[in-house]
Amino acid sequence: MTYLSRMFFRLYAPATCVAASGAALASVGRSLGADAADAAESTLTLTSVAGYALLLLAAALVGLASLRLLRWKSGAVASCFVCGCLLQAERESRHGISRRCTGCGKIHARSGLIRAMR
Ligand SMILES: [Zn+2]
Repeated sequence: MTYLSRMFFRLYAPATCVAASGAALASVGRSLGADAADAAESTLTLTSVAGYALLLLAAALVGLASLRLLRWKSGAVASCFVCGCLLQAERESRHGISRRCTGCGKIHARSGLIRAMR
């Protein structure tokens, strides 16, 4: 697995998990809604609505990840000087403010590389 494919996987994995759970919830809601009587239909419809809401959330997460990738491709955000991949958000750690690379996993400070994770 290359650093670039690892970066794409880390960016789109949350959206994929949310979409899978939303699709499962929506299908369960639809299958239970087809078998249920009219009295229980409101709660089963709520299950379907929750599933579709998760699908919408997954679409929003895909949009955010794609925007981050477009900004990275245009050079508007910082990238790793080791592998060139996108850096995650700044975090406060015992080393000060640092950012982890989404590709190689190395931790970068403002002054340079702190340590390699792999
Ligand atoms: Zn890197």
